[in-house]
Amino acid sequence: MSDYAQLKEQELSVTADELEASEEFPPKPDERYPSFPDALRQVERFDPKEKCINCKKPGYYYPADKAYAPGHCYSEEGKREFQSISSCCEFCFDHMFAEPEDASV
Ligand SMILES: [Zn+2]
Repeated sequence: MSDYAQLKEQELSVTADELEASEEFPPKPDERYPSFPDALRQVERFDPKEKCINCKKPGYYYPADKAYAPGHCYSEEGKREFQSISSCCEFCFDHMFAEPEDASV
């Protein structure tokens, strides 16, 4: 899995390929959702206007236990925060507030 700095730079579709290859992505919340990698590809194709101020990726909502890719908001609170307050996705938010031992690796 790529580190944060690299994930920020690369295309979402590349990240989708990586997640798919490593099988490190959340399960479908229900049948209305595409698989997480497919959701990333759709986001890239539709290119929503609302971008994260940090990673510059479009913000999108996909329920999960944590953020798996730039632009990912996985909780209702995170989605609201992105849309109305900070314009910072949960992937970046969690990275910024990660434990020091994680940041030093
Ligand atoms: Zn972000």
